[in-house]
Amino acid sequence: MAILEEPIKEVRTLKNYIDGEWIESKTGVVWDIVNPATMKVISRVPISGAEEVDEAVKAAKSAFPEWRRTPAVDRARYLYRLKALLEDHFEEAARIGVMEHGKTIDEQRGEIRRGIENVEVACGIPSLMMGYNLEDIARGIDECVLHQPLGVFACIAPFNFPFMVPLWFLPYAIATGNTFIVKPSPEVPLSQTQLFEIIDEVGIPPGVVNMVHGGREAGSALLTHPDIKGISFVGSTRVGRDVIYKIGTAHGKRVQAQCSAKNYLLIMPDCNIDRTARALMTSVYGNTGQRCLSGSNVVIIGEDEAFYDRFMKTVISYAKRINVGYGLDERVQMGPVRSPDKKQRIIGHIESGLEEGAKLTLDGRKPKILGDYPETCFLGPTILEDVANDMKIAQEEIFGPVMNVMRAKNLDDAITMVHDNPYGNSGSIFTSNGASARKFQYEIQVGNVGINIGIVAPMAFFPFSGMKDSFFGDRHGQGGGHGFEGAIGFYTESKVVISRWW
Ligand code: NAD
Repeated sequence: MAILEEPIKEVRTLKNYIDGEWIESKTGVVWDIVNPATMKVISRVPISGAEEVDEAVKAAKSAFPEWRRTPAVDRARYLYRLKALLEDHFEEAARIGVMEHGKTIDEQRGEIRRGIENVEVACGIPSLMMGYNLEDIARGIDECVLHQPLGVFACIAPFNFPFMVPLWFLPYAIATGNTFIVKPSPEVPLSQTQLFEIIDEVGIPPGVVNMVHGGREAGSALLTHPDIKGISFVGSTRVGRDVIYKIGTAHGKRVQAQCSAKNYLLIMPDCNIDRTARALMTSVYGNTGQRCLSGSNVVIIGEDEAFYDRFMKTVISYAKRINVGYGLDERVQMGPVRSPDKKQRIIGHIESGLEEGAKLTLDGRKPKILGDYPETCFLGPTILEDVANDMKIAQEEIFGPVMNVMRAKNLDDAITMVHDNPYGNSGSIFTSNGASARKFQYEIQVGNVGINIGIVAPMAFFPFSGMKDSFFGDRHGQGGGHGFEGAIGFYTESKVVISRWW
């Protein structure tokens, strides 16, 4: 198999996209973007400030009245064109993502596909946004509900899904008639730059969608700007809860904040060992563990030592076979983590596990790398056994390719372990017993529940759930169906009209 060609040939300084124009940032502060596999500089991102955010908000605000009046069918037609162009640029987008983030090419293709699916769902906006009515609520009086856009919304995105996460929000926000600003993570600005180049080609009217590169300062300017109606945030709980939700709501904004996670995978002794072990590989090691839906704590249930030994033997043998390397090499199954400091943080977690008494069954700190690349950001699959639920490594998000293996006497105890963790993003059970699966689904306090599924990623037409410290807000992202619980509800206001004509 070949190593795919790199699509980025020259190092350029990126620009903001405001009011349909590519504009150089005025701050003069620029960060290098380094490919985590090769450690070569591939781009430079400007770190914009409040002034540039204000320009983007002004453009979005002035585009709103005309965009709102544009019929929903016509707004949808822009999205059809966006979908077609995204397909044309699909492979290039995937390779750019590998270079800036470090995923494997197939993981990156998957990410882009999931992003496009949200555009597809939003194309149904003429039906999704319909209100409802009832004639003669009293004699000669009719009543109806309309769903209307609010104005300018913004998205603050994380580093781990640079292409997809803004597409959880942008298509629905503009389909419903709002205007929008994206602030990508400054660690991975290239995917969004390419998305906005495609958006520019679509010909969406100036000001309807805008992008401002930057970090905390730009994020905080969006949070406090009086002309922004709502914020869709994805990132850590530290920022999402303590900054975005707190400050955003205090400034009268709608906020949906999808945050950190610690996901448990419960293994019943009646599971299919081979299929479960393979599901664990993608759940724990996929995306090099840098996924809010990554399995982290594997809880093996029951006291059957023979089952434990057989299960672990299978898991270890699969984990040892994972090829680590540069994601553009199609043989590679696990890429580097995003940056050297993230690698050091993950190693710190492994070491804290060892200090607290865990056993290191598979050590990924010095991985074998396929090809000649610097070790700087690479880690291999790691397995820790004898992990207790109150250890730091079991309670905190690691965001790296580390599997903690834990034990529980029975399903009730395992569910209690899940509930003793502050997060509630996702959780899975592996079993062949319907009653165990039903009990898990019924009782478990997590937003995305898997039954014999390792990565519980809701499709675009379902809301992306999350509970406890994994989500702050009232309405989840994504989701077109079943009324207004997801994106359509977040981006619209309901208005009741009661009318009488004598
Ligand atoms: P992060 O919280 O460090 O940053 C997220 C975004 O917030 C970035 O754009 C950043 O520039 C901005 N930001 C940081 N500090 C800010 C501040 N004080 N004011 C305003 N904006 C600020 O998160 P990250 O490291 O980029 O992403 C990883 C995290 O995201 C993980 O915890 C992961 O679980 C979570 N995540 C959650 C989901 C989900 O759906 N629940 C999905 C993907 C990632």
